Amino acid sequence: MKIDILTIFPQMFSALDHSIIARAREAGIIDLKVTDIRDYSESKYKNTDDYPYGGGAGMLMTAQPIADAIKAVAPDPYDGLRICLSPRGIPFTQQMAEKLAKQENLLLLCGHYEGVDERVIKRYIDLEISIGDYVLTGGELPAMVVLDCVARLKEGVLGGSDSAEEESFSDDFLLEYPHYTRPREFEGLSVPDVLLNGNHAEINKWRREQRLIITAQRRPDLLKKARLSDKEKEWLKGQFPDTQFDF
Ligand code: SAM
Repeated sequence: MKIDILTIFPQMFSALDHSIIARAREAGIIDLKVTDIRDYSESKYKNTDDYPYGGGAGMLMTAQPIADAIKAVAPDPYDGLRICLSPRGIPFTQQMAEKLAKQENLLLLCGHYEGVDERVIKRYIDLEISIGDYVLTGGELPAMVVLDCVARLKEGVLGGSDSAEEESFSDDFLLEYPHYTRPREFEGLSVPDVLLNGNHAEINKWRREQRLIITAQRRPDLLKKARLSDKEKEWLKGQFPDTQFDF
């Protein structure tokens, strides 16, 4: 999968030279190319921003350098999605990451200042994505969030073939169960007995129950989307007798 990133701060992407994403790149699973938008600026001082028409606070990224950078790295016809990271975009979810992971090519445009000239969005961008209801200084961290989420879904990126299964926000919308590793005792806290007895049916049952409890406590809104059996709904009501669930 080819991922192009357009940014005025290419150095920030050195974070992707480490850990699992670095290995995915070395293995050729992710072909990542970071392009400095400034290189495409036709202005004398290689500017990439200007004052907004109509006034208002801050600067805007100008259309020309971005448009030329896109034409250079992801020209029409483009077999993939050209994405702009933006607080006003569609909220990023695990399900969206799964869809993006099926693309051959992705382009991630990182905004800065007050954002990007709207004509670039209109002409070149297929999708605006927000990573949450808050405002960051630039699209570089959001782009890395999207890239990391998508890359780890590609076959061969994670160690175990099933590492991306049974996770929070995966198919059934339940949060993940608690994990424990050695030692059995840590600062007076023990690993639950059920995980030590080797009975996989019991372990799976305990894990499923933990997922139900944790989701009910922390993200009851997800229970609406979760696929729960009638028996599980009754069990959960029994665990939280004072709670009115919206299944
Ligand atoms: N004026 C914009 C607004 O009110 O929506 C905020 C611009 S923000 C300071 C600068 C850039 O950071 C944006 O163009 C975008 O690329 C990125 N950014 C900030 N918050 C983001 C978020 N929650 N999700 C995705 N991108 C974000």
